[in-house]
Amino acid sequence: MNDYNFSDIDQWIIGNSWINSKIENLNEKLAIDIGSRWATSENERNAAEYIYDFWKNEGLETYHENFDIETYKFHKSILEVDKKQLDVRPYHRCPSVDLNLNLIDLGFGTKREVNEKLKDIKGKIALINRKHEPFTEQEPISNRVNFISEMGASAIIIGDPKSGRRMEYSSVWDTRDPESIYPPLPIVNTSSEHLLLLKRYAQKNLKAKLIVSTEFYNAETSNVIADIPGEIKDEYIVMCGHHDTVFDTPGGNDNTSGAIAVIETARSVKMALDEFNIKPEIGLKFITLSAEEQRLQGSFFHVNNNYNSGNIKPRFVLNCDELSTGNLKGIVLGFSHLRNFLQKQLDTLNEDLKVHVMSQLDGHSDHFPFLEAGIDASHPWRWRFFGRYPDCEYHHEAPDTFDKLNIKDLKYYISSFSRLLIRLSLISPGSWPKNPLTKDMIRKRLDEEKNFEIRTS
Ligand SMILES: [Zn+2]
Repeated sequence: MNDYNFSDIDQWIIGNSWINSKIENLNEKLAIDIGSRWATSENERNAAEYIYDFWKNEGLETYHENFDIETYKFHKSILEVDKKQLDVRPYHRCPSVDLNLNLIDLGFGTKREVNEKLKDIKGKIALINRKHEPFTEQEPISNRVNFISEMGASAIIIGDPKSGRRMEYSSVWDTRDPESIYPPLPIVNTSSEHLLLLKRYAQKNLKAKLIVSTEFYNAETSNVIADIPGEIKDEYIVMCGHHDTVFDTPGGNDNTSGAIAVIETARSVKMALDEFNIKPEIGLKFITLSAEEQRLQGSFFHVNNNYNSGNIKPRFVLNCDELSTGNLKGIVLGFSHLRNFLQKQLDTLNEDLKVHVMSQLDGHSDHFPFLEAGIDASHPWRWRFFGRYPDCEYHHEAPDTFDKLNIKDLKYYISSFSRLLIRLSLISPGSWPKNPLTKDMIRKRLDEEKNFEIRTS
């Protein structure tokens, strides 16, 4: 690796990333022309084809990884009290329901609050705040709704943490807990303003009409993969980011930004390798994943399809999600053994980028299925625990449009990732710290961690 003059390579990459960028063309196509990309929809399929063609035209070895997922469509949702229509948005996989019942206010839905009203919950629609009760240990939303369901509630209405009647598409699934995949009862979102109204209606003993009609089915989708083969068989570094969105948004931030980072880094790395006639030792795989917004099914499929035996593991995985929420500050690892090794490489970029290790395995994006398999997955450090852009609280809702993608930041992400990935691909596998982790070890750790959440903001 010392044979290469990185100063020339870095200059070339940085110049090329700024001057020769295709971010704007990709953003125009994905977030304006195509728009929302719910996995398995016609739009999402068109986006996958577009990414495939884009990479092919750049001379990359490209293929689809096809699979079926469990998906669904909401046909209608109504929340009505006293003939007034209230804000409503069904949660992920909310089953069909048609109720007309009394409401009960359970505060934040913590164990303490639910226990205080235990006798009154059965057969009612529970109202809770999605936010955490501010003064005590955080209870994951999956634990809170499971307990309310066990106590006999017929449905739960959750107040969105945002104000201004904004509502996100949300889920109560705790990735770390395989038993929480399906919601235990019908759950819908309402705006924070309408949660306050509903609490008043609860005091007046008014009934709420709640109707949701959902269709569940299986359908086909694909991850799109571009390979830059290395000299050594079965050795990989993976960079990934999901190309799908929730159903009614083009996802400028979540995740047109991350998908473009993957698409453009693949192009930039290939051009640099060609320009300087470099052959990596470790192969590079660039993947735009599907169905992140539907239980990370694309990432889970990829991990099971390629690394299920545990014999082959990628050396390093970099997952990009919501890259317009803050500028690049470093890399966050799931496990600690690559920490010093990676920091040494980042130091050579001379950009003051830092490596961190999360104290709890993070289940919130496509790096999770890799972590669960004991693979060294990471995500770019951009806002936790400070430095999140205040105007970039956009994901999972209609206003996450093309303008939310921060082009200048993305150019910097792409040039930095290209420089880092080329360096890593040239380090012989024998010089990497050993990864001793097995799936069983990780399952044990997840079972210990799943009942609490560290504060991340
Ligand atoms: Zn995302």
